[in-house]
Amino acid sequence: MQPRTFMARQKIDLRTLVLGLTLTACAVTLANSLHAAYRIERETLMERSLEANRAYSARVASSIDGFLRGAQLRLKLAGERLADRFDDPKARRDTLERLASLSADFDAVAIVNADGRIADVLPEALQLEGRTVEAPEQISAVREHKPIVSNAYRSMAGNLVIFISMPIFDHHGTYLGLIGGSIHLQKDGRLHELMSNHFFVSDSEVYVVDGRHQLLFHPLKARIGTVTATNPAMDHALVARDGSIAMVDADGRAMLAGFANIPTAHWAIVSQQPVASVLAPLDALMKRIVVAIAPVAVIGFVLLWVLARYIARPLRQLADSTTSTGLIESTGSVAQVNAWYFEASHLKQALLHGIDLARTQVSGLEIASQTDPLTGLLNRRALDASMAAMEADGRQVAVIALDIDHFKRVNDTYGHDVGDVVLQRVAEMMRHASRSTDLAFRVGGEEFLMLLPGLDSHAAGGTAERLRRLVEQTAIAPVGHITISLGVTTWPHDAASLAEALKEADTLMYQAKQTGRNRSVVVGQATA
Ligand code: GH3
Ligand code: MG
Ligand code: MG
Repeated sequence: MQPRTFMARQKIDLRTLVLGLTLTACAVTLANSLHAAYRIERETLMERSLEANRAYSARVASSIDGFLRGAQLRLKLAGERLADRFDDPKARRDTLERLASLSADFDAVAIVNADGRIADVLPEALQLEGRTVEAPEQISAVREHKPIVSNAYRSMAGNLVIFISMPIFDHHGTYLGLIGGSIHLQKDGRLHELMSNHFFVSDSEVYVVDGRHQLLFHPLKARIGTVTATNPAMDHALVARDGSIAMVDADGRAMLAGFANIPTAHWAIVSQQPVASVLAPLDALMKRIVVAIAPVAVIGFVLLWVLARYIARPLRQLADSTTSTGLIESTGSVAQVNAWYFEASHLKQALLHGIDLARTQVSGLEIASQTDPLTGLLNRRALDASMAAMEADGRQVAVIALDIDHFKRVNDTYGHDVGDVVLQRVAEMMRHASRSTDLAFRVGGEEFLMLLPGLDSHAAGGTAERLRRLVEQTAIAPVGHITISLGVTTWPHDAASLAEALKEADTLMYQAKQTGRNRSVVVGQATA
């Protein structure tokens, strides 16, 4: 357990990695799609607003221009009719009256002499006859001898007006003066109507300026007549261009503006909409999209979570089964892992193979450590382990002690190597005479021992006799025939402990030596 929690704290696990990776990929893709959708939609909305404002300002500019041309045409016709009778007061008065009755567009109409003196004016209440024009706009209209649409100015009566005039020439071409009309900008009239009637979007702002940036029309009437800060849309429109532009207005707001020039008067019209209000529906749309996506995203997350678990599980199980127990003990849990994909399956096979190899090597070492190299029988270490196991088991065990008779002579006569061969042959015969459950040990130089589980002294005595006869009858080249002596006892029947039983078997075996060798002495049996 200890190493596992330690590892868990040290390293991030595969499931978290898979989940993190896929979630990141999904989030990036989603964010990218939303961003792309937002950008495209934003561009579309802005282009649409720019185009709408451009079209609107162009339409209003053309209406205003048409109105001004109409007014100029009426003045021109009236002036031409008056040209030959310019000095006739009645003719002048008739002309003005007919002009006033033909059109309600002008708030006042007047005829001015070439020297700037007002000859006639309507309505009479203004009482301006005989006075000299004072407004610079009117003075320049008198001087310039050509059709004029003035900038805005304060009239003698104190009203904010524009002045539209036509020069009058006699048939010799001599300049006689002008006929003109003024339009009151802060009063509702045809011109005001043209400028204000066409609101198409509530938060769109439309204004008209003259060449001096004076506001001729503005949704806030109080601003009419004031000089406004310049901006790119206005500048473009005043130099006779139509179009649209994204800009920042004098108040620092981002605006989408359409603009147009009014050629007859050299005025500019601007129709603008705050970017924020153009994009407001887009924010709502994005919110709706996110809300619509959310449930699917949650389902997707759950699916990913499950999938990540499923992918990580085999590796996690392999890791767990090898860390929670020792490697060699983990075969069972490793074999149970469902390695359902290539890498996991190969890893599992490699692990099983590795465990197998390790186990074979370990058991090989164990065997070697418990085996006598000369005879292949179990050694004393194995004897200790076997005794402990058998004592714990508690079942009856027969013990046979065995010693070769006069072995020293074999060594002395034939040499130590031949003695070794004899030891090997005796070991072979011990194996031959025993059952698969019996254990044969070489416990000393030429001293052997057998443990025979489940046998009583009688049965074990039979085994000992069979072995003794086998040895006696088997010729071992070049020695010939040899004999052995054996002692047989049992535990727990004949001894308090297995160790005691071993000692007892030894004693019995020495009894066999003393009573003539080549015999077996079984516990409780009278010695011959
Ligand atoms: P006894 O009948 O009384 O048993 O006579 P013995 O000659 O066999 O006497 P003992 O059992 O005391 O002799 C043991 C001899 O076994 C002594 C030694 O030379 C020999 N021996 C012990 N270990 C080995 C071995 O590994 N190889 C060989 N070749 N001889 C060994
Ligand atoms: Mg001996
Ligand atoms: Mg001996």
